[in-house]
Amino acid sequence: MSKMFVDVRRCIGCHACSVACKTEHSVPLGTFRTRVRWLPEPGDGRMTFLPVFAETCDLGANRAEHGLEPACVMSCPTKALAIVDEAPPESRPLERKGDTRDGVVYRGHARWQEDAMNAGVALSPEDPDPIYEQW
Ligand code: SF4
Repeated sequence: MSKMFVDVRRCIGCHACSVACKTEHSVPLGTFRTRVRWLPEPGDGRMTFLPVFAETCDLGANRAEHGLEPACVMSCPTKALAIVDEAPPESRPLERKGDTRDGVVYRGHARWQEDAMNAGVALSPEDPDPIYEQW
């Protein structure tokens, strides 16, 4: 079964994927499906990024019917996202509160990022919206 593979080390936090997802699915202003979490690294505060996918995400099934990749994958400028047949080595699902899917696997992320995300980090300093409530 196909999976979404996220290479966290490639993500630059540009939000192109979340915007593409909103456009593809006509998501209303102020709400999101895919989101990109900005997470300051403990210690030096360097910003890291973690794309997370809505529980309603079907990996672009509507586009796959036409031989196209999901909008988020096509929009990513760094090729941090890919549809794969098998989970690549050293990848694993995100340990995300309330999410037991294995359809999305990640590589290169750290446990502290999952902990921070599950603790309810904000999308960005300008967006105090707590995590996931809009899904
Ligand atoms: S489009 Fe790619 S680089 Fe930009 S936030 Fe999404 S996954 Fe990261």
